[in-house]
Amino acid sequence: MTTLEFTPERIDPMPAEQREALLRMPGFGSLYSDHMVTARWDAEHGWHDARTGPLAAFSLHPATMAFHYGQTIFEGLKAFWRADGRHALFRPGDHARRFARSARRMAMPELSEVDFLAAVTALVRVDRDWVPRTRGHSFYLRPFMIAAETHLSNRPAEEYLFAVIGSPARPAAEPAPIRLWASPDYVRAVDGGTGTVKCGGNYGGSYLAQREAAEHGCDQVVWLDARERRYVEEVGGSNLFFVEAGRLVTPPLSGTLLAGVTRDSILALAPRLGLEVVEEPVTIDDWERGCRSGRITETFACGTARAVAPVGSAATPGREWTVGDGTTGPVTRRVLGALLDVQHGQAPDEFRWLHAV
Ligand SMILES: *Cc1c(COP(=O)(O)O)cnc(C)c1O
Repeated sequence: MTTLEFTPERIDPMPAEQREALLRMPGFGSLYSDHMVTARWDAEHGWHDARTGPLAAFSLHPATMAFHYGQTIFEGLKAFWRADGRHALFRPGDHARRFARSARRMAMPELSEVDFLAAVTALVRVDRDWVPRTRGHSFYLRPFMIAAETHLSNRPAEEYLFAVIGSPARPAAEPAPIRLWASPDYVRAVDGGTGTVKCGGNYGGSYLAQREAAEHGCDQVVWLDARERRYVEEVGGSNLFFVEAGRLVTPPLSGTLLAGVTRDSILALAPRLGLEVVEEPVTIDDWERGCRSGRITETFACGTARAVAPVGSAATPGREWTVGDGTTGPVTRRVLGALLDVQHGQAPDEFRWLHAV
């Protein structure tokens, strides 16, 4: 099998002064770097036409299958600036493998780990000036794949488009704790469904619940299991941890929640921080009671996009409760600090998570 080469085309980048001004403004997901990476797949050629060109709009026929049947998958990973001036991707191999799992589940062609790494590395190299040089800030990479065949048949497409775009992520210095809403009406994922992969429909299907959350003064939805509507699973794009009697508790990978790379990283780092960590089911009642009795002192959400986000309170019809005193707790802070230390090369990379670019 041949591997793809994403040799960059020469383009005129954004003037440095303008770029640096944009990088100073906080934000996520609204600012893009100069380039994008693309490749195409069809049955005859396999993956081909690898390019690193200027960020530009796609021209797609209205009958492009992705518009109609939702065969789309994505990933989210980050590159970090390090004090030695070099850049590193955080656990790109794990994201590559999850992208391949998502592709398999959606009957799409897999991109090899080597090609995935070549693609994300090419973008970070060519747009290295877009990687913010501030602790906690990063260059967010969004690899994705869509069904690109022009046809109205309801079947897996026979042509696909893969692309990677990059977006500097510049969080606020002290993110406010979020308030979660447990919806009485909607579920995210069922056994045998697509909850364990990052496919577009999982998110589109969740926005009505997100709107319901907003109507109740909440920031995000906390999803409960679809069968019993009791077990806490995860948040829209993040996994959850509870600090209970000094230990960290996170729901097990039940087959309906997304196996987060950040979740896995925290499971590995926690013992290094002297924290016992367990994967154990937590019901919504356990959570509420634990917060009321003081046994659960903190809750945080974790995912690539926002790293570690404190949860200050939760609500569901007829009930609401505060987590701890509603502010960011000490364990949440330590976990975030430990993660950032590794990501920015300020702590030893014991687990070999960093991939130098
Ligand atoms: C991406 C995502 C996560 C977090 O995964 P990371 O690999 O940590 O970014 C959690 N839940 C859902 C539903 C997600 O889409």
